[in-house]
Amino acid sequence: MTSNQPPVPCPFCGHRVIDATLNQKEPAVACINCLRCWGAHSTPNVSGPDYEAAYPEGDTPELVDEVIRLFFWQQELATPGAARDRGGDEATREFLLRDAAARDRESHRLELLWLREPFALESLRNAQALADTAARDLQTHDLITQEAFVSGVLGPSAREWKIAGGPRAYVRQEYRAWRDAALEHEQAQTSPDRADAGQIVDLYGRYL
Ligand SMILES: [Zn+2]
Repeated sequence: MTSNQPPVPCPFCGHRVIDATLNQKEPAVACINCLRCWGAHSTPNVSGPDYEAAYPEGDTPELVDEVIRLFFWQQELATPGAARDRGGDEATREFLLRDAAARDRESHRLELLWLREPFALESLRNAQALADTAARDLQTHDLITQEAFVSGVLGPSAREWKIAGGPRAYVRQEYRAWRDAALEHEQAQTSPDRADAGQIVDLYGRYL
């Protein structure tokens, strides 16, 4: 991204001037060039779930809690042998996924703040760069591990992700799929009816 490009371009025309009405009940953003309007949490230019679908309130850890958790987890993973002891590639993948999701959320939070009232570009660009790097790290890990832990519809090398914002959209797809699987697993464990009548269920509570 060069310095004369907007940090939050219009997803339709790429124009730099955007009118944000973020303090309304249903926050929205409008482009004063092409006049199109979109929800502050929608992502009209990329595939996969938008911010509301990927990180719904009530089913997503508070960002600040998640960042602290990831910080201590990273310290653990840096200990020799720790990644292997904690589940190897699968644990590493979960860390990369949650780290990329947290950076995606933080960057989006700053993008909305910046639209409302522009502040130092450097901190926004820094957050965007961190989110992009973490997203690409997840894609690389998923390619190296032959997509063993990918659960979304589109794989890490799909052409849909090869656009601006694409890697971060991949993170949202994978985070949503990972959360859905975890919730299904929790429900299967707490529901007494799921595994009765001689039915065999798999790890996620699905009937085999
Ligand atoms: Zn526009």
